[in-house]
Amino acid sequence: TFRALMIEDRDGKPVAGFRDLTRDALPDHEVLVEVAYSTLNYKDGLAVTGKGRIARRLPMVAGIDLAGTVVESRSDRWQPGDKVIVNGWGLSETEWGGYSRFQRLKPEWLTRLPEGFSLQDAMAIGTAGYTAALCVDALEDWGAIQPGGPEVLVTGAAGGVGSTAISLLAAKGYTVTAATGRPETHDYLAGLGATGFVDRATLAGKGGPLQKERWAGAVDSVGSTTLANVLAQTNYGGAVAACGLAGGFDLPATVMPHILRGVALLGIDSVMAPQARRDRAWATLAAHLDKAHLASIARVEPMSQLPALAADIVGGRIRGRVVIDVAG
Ligand code: NAP
Repeated sequence: TFRALMIEDRDGKPVAGFRDLTRDALPDHEVLVEVAYSTLNYKDGLAVTGKGRIARRLPMVAGIDLAGTVVESRSDRWQPGDKVIVNGWGLSETEWGGYSRFQRLKPEWLTRLPEGFSLQDAMAIGTAGYTAALCVDALEDWGAIQPGGPEVLVTGAAGGVGSTAISLLAAKGYTVTAATGRPETHDYLAGLGATGFVDRATLAGKGGPLQKERWAGAVDSVGSTTLANVLAQTNYGGAVAACGLAGGFDLPATVMPHILRGVALLGIDSVMAPQARRDRAWATLAAHLDKAHLASIARVEPMSQLPALAADIVGGRIRGRVVIDVAG
């Protein structure tokens, strides 16, 4: 048997707990993977605390990410010994996820571990980091941001998406400003390459529809009034890549930045992103994410700590990224 963190129905409520599973209990998908590491993302925090209804069927093995080694494969795309990662694809929602020593998965969900990364590195990045790369790729495709040019803002800066976005943008030569509610993280964020700081409280209140132009582009993991203010402060022709809702899922905004300044709101989804976009995001990470930065962003914790860590990430108390050792 092996240990898994499962979400189960208790009197109509989703409740997380550790269970011992056997391989026979796993779904009947083509590829059996021995999981080395998973991670803790904001969405995992919602699932494990029960603060968000992430699992759409129960019982569900939580964990939206995993990295491990193929043990058995009925698909000719994958052979035993292959090192693979999975980000999203419905894991922890409709499909059993990464908080388990073994998992069976569909061949099309697997991404080959990019060269230069260990399984632990891949989970130090995880969905949060890969989403940061999707955001950077989208801003560049839009043509809004220029290396050495006007500032790029990153909100939720000390979180997983934010930390990785800062490191990537700075490595590519962009001038990065970090919006954070935690001044004690300024040294950490400066170490990742941020050169300007904004107190997140200044973006949280309701603001005017068109404010002083400040940002060539932005990566937003906060949503709500923060995203509305960021849009209202984006330069003519700029773009904001919106990926998160840590501050709320509403968007109390106006069309003014869009119709008077041509500002673009670029929606970013990691869960069902097509494989080609994922491969490009992982290539961006492999080429531009500094290994020393990754080490300062991430720490490893045993799976036994997940319930407490889940409460911490939902409470905004996690800095950077947490890798989960599923054997621990
Ligand atoms: P995280 O590590 O918890 O980071 C979120 C950060 O947002 C926090 O560190 C905090 O930054 C800030 N924050 C938290 N509560 C806030 C509030 N009430 N008001 C303003 N700022 C607040 O989470 P994550 O894993 O990086 O994920 C970030 C967001 O992106 C989440 O909403 C997640 O669901 C979303 N996401 C979406 C996708 C997608 O596919 N679209 C993929 C990955 C993540 P400071 O302490 O620096 O202020």
